[in-house]
Amino acid sequence: MVAYQPLSFLQSQPCGPWEVYLEQIDRVTPHLGHLARWIDTLKHPKRILIVDVPIERDDGSIAHFEGYRVQHNTSRGPGKGGVRFHQDVTLSEVMALSAWMTVKNAAVNVPYGGAKGGIRVDPKQLSMAELQRMTRRYTSEIQIIIGPMKDIPAPDVNTNEQIMAWMMDTYSVNEGSTTTGVVTGKPVSLGGSLGRQEATGRGVFVVGCEVAALRGLDVAGMRVAIQGFGNVGGVAARLFAQSGALVVAIQDHEAAIVNEGGIDVNALLGHARSSGSVAGFAGATRLDNRDEFWEIDCDMLIPAALEQQITAANAGKIKASIVLEGANGPTTPAADDILAERGILVVPDVIANAGGVTVSYFEWVQDFSSFFWTEDEINQRLTRIMKEALAAVWQLAADRKVSLRTAAFIVGCTRVLQAREMRGLYP
Ligand code: NAD
Repeated sequence: MVAYQPLSFLQSQPCGPWEVYLEQIDRVTPHLGHLARWIDTLKHPKRILIVDVPIERDDGSIAHFEGYRVQHNTSRGPGKGGVRFHQDVTLSEVMALSAWMTVKNAAVNVPYGGAKGGIRVDPKQLSMAELQRMTRRYTSEIQIIIGPMKDIPAPDVNTNEQIMAWMMDTYSVNEGSTTTGVVTGKPVSLGGSLGRQEATGRGVFVVGCEVAALRGLDVAGMRVAIQGFGNVGGVAARLFAQSGALVVAIQDHEAAIVNEGGIDVNALLGHARSSGSVAGFAGATRLDNRDEFWEIDCDMLIPAALEQQITAANAGKIKASIVLEGANGPTTPAADDILAERGILVVPDVIANAGGVTVSYFEWVQDFSSFFWTEDEINQRLTRIMKEALAAVWQLAADRKVSLRTAAFIVGCTRVLQAREMRGLYP
């Protein structure tokens, strides 16, 4: 067998998110039996598109941004994954995020491959008009590889239903017909699904409650700390607080705040909406050193911001007994090992945050049939899928004596590689 060749254009980034993903794949390979023959499929993204996104700024100058769309794997269906606007976006990051989508979609058994996109930009530096021009130009540039049966983008960090509406409109104008199914996470008035906006946070909450029960923890009174207070972290915080948990600490891009008695999450949501951050909230104390957030005394720690946040440097300080991954790729393999040694349970991203793509799948199905479900139906179906996916992975982890991450990767990678094997290579 020919040994795996590292992708040449990534050699300058030895410790990036893609390398974290590759290490996770190496850890699951011994558990895949004869399917391990196909493992290199998962180490090679199927298609990578890098695009130049030029826009005219409001002052008349021209700015260029680097955009990406990566389709990691389409063995089980069209590509599916979000679009991120962030100043630190790199190709390595988008590749890793697209690969985690492949594993996640298979782990919860939605009929998609994995994809992801992004633009290297700080959107806070753009006016709304500039943001719209950039989104539309990016959509036009990646139009050759996206579509309802090819690859369906969705929101991720710093993108939302307005961005999805512009993407849907641009694609539709270029195609000459309204194509709602080209993106998910759209406004409900444009073919979006009820419950989609809060689906990821709700899924995190559902999985968190299940795991707490399995660990003998009562959600009422449970102490929760959350990194990230956006779409995922904000919704999860609200649902945990509504169930009687104490949200004792929150960190966002500007500040980390604590309140031992429990933060008033609804008041904080209002504050963050108007000021753009949790900083300056009167109902909590700001930590002088934001890194102390990782040492907060709590039962459940929810990273819900960016990848590679829990590392060998801070994993030894974490006091929670459960780490529930709302973000994609927040824990490095070295940190995974430290947490396991310390008896801390890590509930992996590919299960914990799969609620978003699950309701995206519902949205796509509803768009095709132009028949829309009630919010209750959506939340019930979401809850069932999340609970079943967790239960299957929990059982497999116990049977094989592996971590939940390895068990989730066994389930996901097995489904992808079975599809790969059955389809065969072409020609
Ligand atoms: P968002 O843009 O709505 O919120 C991101 C949050 O992270 C913000 O509160 C921001 O202040 C905070 N943040 C940014 N940089 C930070 C830093 N350096 N330190 C601490 N906090 C920081 O994004 P989101 O949609 O909530 O996504 C968060 C994570 O969840 C990402 O990893 C994303 O890939 C993942 N995810 C999102 C969805 C979805 O449906 N939106 C689905 C699955 C997974």
